[in-house]
Amino acid sequence: MRYVLDLGERPSAAISGSEARFPVRRIFCVARNYAEHAREMGHDPNREPPFFFAKPADALVENGCDVPYPPRTQNLHYEVELVVALAKGGRNLSVEEAEGLIYGYAVGNDLTRRDLQAEAKKQGRPWDTAKGFDHSAPLSAIHRTDEVGHIRRGAIWLKVNGETRQQGDVADMIWSVPEVIAELSTLFELQAGDLIFTGTPAGVGPVVPGDVIECGIDGLDVLRHRIA
Ligand code: MN
Repeated sequence: MRYVLDLGERPSAAISGSEARFPVRRIFCVARNYAEHAREMGHDPNREPPFFFAKPADALVENGCDVPYPPRTQNLHYEVELVVALAKGGRNLSVEEAEGLIYGYAVGNDLTRRDLQAEAKKQGRPWDTAKGFDHSAPLSAIHRTDEVGHIRRGAIWLKVNGETRQQGDVADMIWSVPEVIAELSTLFELQAGDLIFTGTPAGVGPVVPGDVIECGIDGLDVLRHRIA
């Protein structure tokens, strides 16, 4: 294949214990998947179908790299999330089939321009500028399921400058990982290389340039980055 522009390599993620990279196709994200976080955002967490938004694959930031404070916001928020990497795709999958697609798990930070999101909600507009900006998706290395199994419970936490801000348990998700995959597969034909950010627990808040964010999930790497 010959292209008229050279765009470099496709977006990819590190894999724990491997030199090889995980090629990333799309990044899907789940909104309001922990009850306490839904409440802190002013919503009733009664079980309604999960809803989704997306980030561009090239919004990924490697573990340890600085994240530039993005333009057009005065309220940049962190959101630690369990991220699922898919080795296989499919449509209209059952909850029972869903885990079979998973290549591995990682820790992600769904960085959000909260002021732009609040304005978008008020105006009934899309969330793209609030969620899908450059460098908005810091991600740890992916841990393969043959190394860590399936992550169904365990502490999920985030610290800013060493101070705990988010502390939850993956078992507290309103929609489990298999349920999220099954629902998403009714909206999109899922594909190998897709990532899914599965929602954040309560305690979201702002960061400013110079802050160091560390976040983790039991069994996975600590994701660490400085806001530059
Ligand atoms: Mn999120």
